[in-house]
Formats: sequence, structure tokens, C-alpha cells
Amino acid sequence: MKSGSSLSGLSFDTLAVHAGQPPEPVSGAVMTPIVLASTFAQEGPGNHKGFEYSRSGNPTRNALEANLATLEGGKHGFAFSSGLGASTTLFSSLKSGDHVLSGDDVYGGTFRLLDKVMKPLGIASSFVDMTNIDKVREQIRPETRMIWIETPTNPMLKIFDIAKIAQLASEKNLVFVVDNTFATPVLQHPIQLGATVAMHSTTKYINGHSDVVGGAAVIADDTLAERVRFLQNALGAVPSPFDCYMVLRGIKTLGLRVRQASASAQTIAERLSTHPAVRKVYYPGLPTHPGHTIAKSQMSAGGAMISLEVKGGLTASRSFLEKLQIFACAESLGGVESLAEHPAIMTHASVPPEARQALGISDELVRLSVGVEATEDLWADIARALG
Ligand SMILES: *Cc1c(COP(=O)(O)O)cnc(C)c1O
Repeated sequence: MKSGSSLSGLSFDTLAVHAGQPPEPVSGAVMTPIVLASTFAQEGPGNHKGFEYSRSGNPTRNALEANLATLEGGKHGFAFSSGLGASTTLFSSLKSGDHVLSGDDVYGGTFRLLDKVMKPLGIASSFVDMTNIDKVREQIRPETRMIWIETPTNPMLKIFDIAKIAQLASEKNLVFVVDNTFATPVLQHPIQLGATVAMHSTTKYINGHSDVVGGAAVIADDTLAERVRFLQNALGAVPSPFDCYMVLRGIKTLGLRVRQASASAQTIAERLSTHPAVRKVYYPGLPTHPGHTIAKSQMSAGGAMISLEVKGGLTASRSFLEKLQIFACAESLGGVESLAEHPAIMTHASVPPEARQALGISDELVRLSVGVEATEDLWADIARALG
């Protein structure tokens, strides 16, 4: 695309390749250069070209931030050194005495950050099943300042109604953050549905190749964005220019990857749901999923994450994970390669056992991250491992 061309009216896949990345004006390089400089020469004191020091701003990071803002349909994009770096920065916009109302089935690290770091600093939090909007309303306190959700949730893949929660948040004047890591902007647009912030662990689908740890926040509200711009620099959880380049490169195929993986996951979930060795399948693309109707209204497909219970307790789920060959047994998700993991032992070990039990994270639960390999190869692997 020629520099200066208009991006308006272009579709997601075109924007993924081009937004924030016009050809570099000096050489015409079509790929965004990795600007490793930590500092930038000024003509005279305070007279610079928009860059002073790479923590406060960097051209490669700017390109990524502009791209992410476009894809999430928000005005302001911010990139961070990890998803938790993004979360830490967003929670730091609150002050002692404030309260965060969080979904009950959040990423283990988000729970740990709220419970073990923010709570001692005076920022309280409570965790509620947000499938029931009346319960959410009841749990809002006078000091509540933020609602934080994931949908689909991790690992139970529950679906929360973004538009309904957004309406409540706006009524009560609360910042509403949606961790959009699982759905990605390919399938779901929280800001369009009324969220204030779409947050990401770019480590997952956004980068998509399991070779970067990164985070992002796209913000619709100007005042909050100004505060986060200050905090991004003041707290310093910024990504390296090299990582920004890697994430930008990954984003170019985001649509292709997520649509392929999601289509495979739909097929696999349907087959798993009738398999005799499987007790239960959690996948929002199945009509039997309790959140299916809402999922259909706010997502364009069911996503590429599936959770299932393998009949036979820990012995059976462990044996399934050991027998898989294409699916690597590993934490994380959202890469081109398929992964499988045991939430109770691996990703959600930091969630207290009683809380795990209440959420349904049993010893039989296995979480699959379906990659972009051939659907039939993936199914053959699963069928063999279920034996
Ligand atoms: C991985 C993950 C995070 C944390 O991101 P990091 O990049 O690992 O810090 C937050 N939310 C969700 C849903 C995740 O999957």
C-alpha cells in the first residue's frame, strides 16, 4: 500500500496487514523497521521529532499500537511487555480504596495480581459469575470503579454478555475492561459492544507463533487513555522494539490463523461431544453450550479453545495428555501449533483448590488450544489418545 493512502472502508484482513505500517518514508521499506535506539537526537533542547527516549515512545512500538487500535476499533493503542504488564498498568489507574468487580473465571495470573498484589495495596476485588446480570448489579459497591471480564473465560469457556455488562458499567460510570485474548478482534469487538478497554495477552493469538511474551490495551475513552499513556511510561512495562516487530509480523496472518483454527475447533468439539470416553465438552460453538446464543450474537465463530472432561479421573486425563503426539503438553495457547494442558495442575495451580472446584476445574478437565494444522490430523491424534 502506498504511504498516505486512506484505510477507511477497508476490511479486517487488509487492515491487519497495513494499518499503522505505511512504507518507511526514507528507504521505502515495506516492512516496519526495528528501531532499536534507546534515545533520539533533538535539534535543540525539547525540539524533537516526537521521540525522546524509547520507554516513552518508539517508532516500531508506535506502529504496533496504531495497528492494534485499528483492529480493535478503539482510538488509543498501548503495547506492553506482557499481558500482565498491561493488566498491572490498567489496575494502577485505580487508587487505594477502589474496588474491582471481576468475572469469576479469569486467567490465573489476573486473579493472582488482584489477590496478592493489588489487595495489599488497598485495591479490593471480588469475583462473580457474570452470566447473571442481576448478580453483577448486586455486587457493585459504592467504591467499585472497574468491571473486568474475559469472555470466553479461561478455562471453562463461559460466555458473558458484553453489551449488557457495558450498559450496566455505563449506568454506574465504571471502566469496563474486556480481556479479549481468547476471542481476538477477528471474532469479537468489545469496544463496539460498549467496553471501555479491550485488553490482550499478545503472547497468544495476536502474535500467534509462541515466540513473544507481550500485552496490549486498546482504549476508547480519551481521559483514561491519557492516564494509561502516563502510566505506561511511569511504570515502564514496555515491550522491546524487536518484540513489537514480531507481533506486527504475526498480526498480518491473524485473520487467516484464527478462522482456520476456529473452524477446526468447531469440528473437533462436535466429534468430542459424542465420544464415549468424554464426559463433557465446553465449547461456545456447540448449541448445547449454555452461552451459545450470546456467543452467536457477539462472536463470529466459537474460537479455537476447547475444554473437555475425560472420563476416569486424573489417571485418564493424564494418560490422554501423555498419549497426544501432535498436541504438545504445554501451558499457553493461541499459537499456530496445537497445545493441550491440565488446568488444575498447570495454568490454574495458583487458584485455591476450593475456588477451582467451585468453578468446575476438576482433575478430569483438559484444555485444548487448537492450532492451524490439518483438521483431520488433529482429530486422528485426539481419537488415538482417547483410545
Ligand atoms: C496469558 C493470558 C494473560 C496473561 O498474559 P501474559 O502475556 O502471559 O502476561 C491474560 N489473560 C489471558 C486470557 C491469558 O490467556
